[in-house]
Amino acid sequence: MKHRKFLLAETDIPTHWYNIVADMPNKPLPPLHPGTKEPIGPEALMPLFPMELIKQEVTGEKWVEIPDEVRDLYTLWRPSPLYRAYEFEKLLGTDCKIYYKYEGVSPSGSHKPNTAVPQAYYNKQEGVKRITTETGAGQWGSALSFACNHFGIECEVYMVKISYEQKPYRKLLMNTWGAKVFASPTNLTNAGRQILAQDPNSPGSLGIAISEAVERAAMNDDTKYALGSVLNHVLMHQTIVGQEALKQMEMAGDMPDIVVAPFGGGSNFAGLTFPFLRLNLEEGRNIRAIAAEPASCPKLTRGVFRYDFGDTVGMTPLLPMFTLGHKFVPSPIHAGGLRYHGAGVIVSQLLHDKLIEAQAVMQKECFQAGVDFAKAEGILPAPEATHALATVVREVQKAREEGRPKTILFNLCGHGYFDMSAYQQYFEGKIVDHELTAADIEALIAEIDTPEILEA
Ligand SMILES: *Cc1c(COP(=O)(O)O)cnc(C)c1O
Repeated sequence: MKHRKFLLAETDIPTHWYNIVADMPNKPLPPLHPGTKEPIGPEALMPLFPMELIKQEVTGEKWVEIPDEVRDLYTLWRPSPLYRAYEFEKLLGTDCKIYYKYEGVSPSGSHKPNTAVPQAYYNKQEGVKRITTETGAGQWGSALSFACNHFGIECEVYMVKISYEQKPYRKLLMNTWGAKVFASPTNLTNAGRQILAQDPNSPGSLGIAISEAVERAAMNDDTKYALGSVLNHVLMHQTIVGQEALKQMEMAGDMPDIVVAPFGGGSNFAGLTFPFLRLNLEEGRNIRAIAAEPASCPKLTRGVFRYDFGDTVGMTPLLPMFTLGHKFVPSPIHAGGLRYHGAGVIVSQLLHDKLIEAQAVMQKECFQAGVDFAKAEGILPAPEATHALATVVREVQKAREEGRPKTILFNLCGHGYFDMSAYQQYFEGKIVDHELTAADIEALIAEIDTPEILEA
């Protein structure tokens, strides 16, 4: 019988998160104050986050212990399975070995609860009554709603308006877990009103929704804010994915040559790849880590490395990142939740130092790969995850041309059962490829007025 599925026991759930900062040759640059543009310390984050998460945001410690209560809740869905994709390999007719880590088994159907649970836990520990957040495709809002409900914290979600309209079931899922959900931009915040005054029909964007959620938290003492990606502590929480996968690859008697994950802000990419990159940094191994981003939002492959705001209005600290500019509003035709203008600080530094790679893929090739995968392996991937699949297909093709079969591991970071309207559009031929022109990119970059990063 084929060994298809690699399963761990509950006792194999990692006891610590891995902090790659400890192993990075060039440490991330400090954030800057949005007004003075001077480096800021962790205390500047105190209105928004509980102290323990701020400590994790700036720590240089290599391993951070996972609280028992968090590990206990993780057992609801962890360890997650790792599969060898025999059927997909057959469909592609390849000698490459393809493995995937499946995070769609979580309560909300993606990797996001891996960080939502510890974030809600630390807020609870510090007496926070309400957490605000933004959500794009709805995955993060669902995960945080679930976690807040468990710990008895109110959850307020600003959902990008176009997704709010396209994904009513995501909203209902959040409501089921007791969250309040608003279509952003709203009239409830200064940030929202400012955008609506300029464009009453604004489809919203993650950057705008972040401005709204941050404003609400900054204005209320009993309210904090939570982010589902980008920040260092969020990326660190996700490293349980890669730590499990490493053990599971050992069970399979294999090691990946290439590890691939879709890229929005970097959390599921970091989660899967950082524990493998640790082997590169510690032992000089040569595992390639590829971030797969949409051609319609190509910050890693075509953006610039410089300081930028995390939100649209410019309220957050300035972070050193690959960005298309904080005012970038991606094309609303694009399905999926990879529409953020910037990238996490750690992943940006790693890309700048050429320790990871990035590829931009087109929408139709993503959905094609997603449907092929569903036919072969049975699981319908989240539209975001199809970006990893399209990249895997490209790497398989390259391996064929080079006559060198590779072992490839990718992150199937979520299922697509709440995203059927995107698949419906694809089946009806309404998904079109969208790529920014060179002139588009030039215009976007010319508009960026935040500080440059000066090379030492
Ligand atoms: C949120 C999300 C992403 C993008 O965010 P990252 O932080 O880059 O992981 C990708 N896939 C799924 C399924 C998501 O929910």
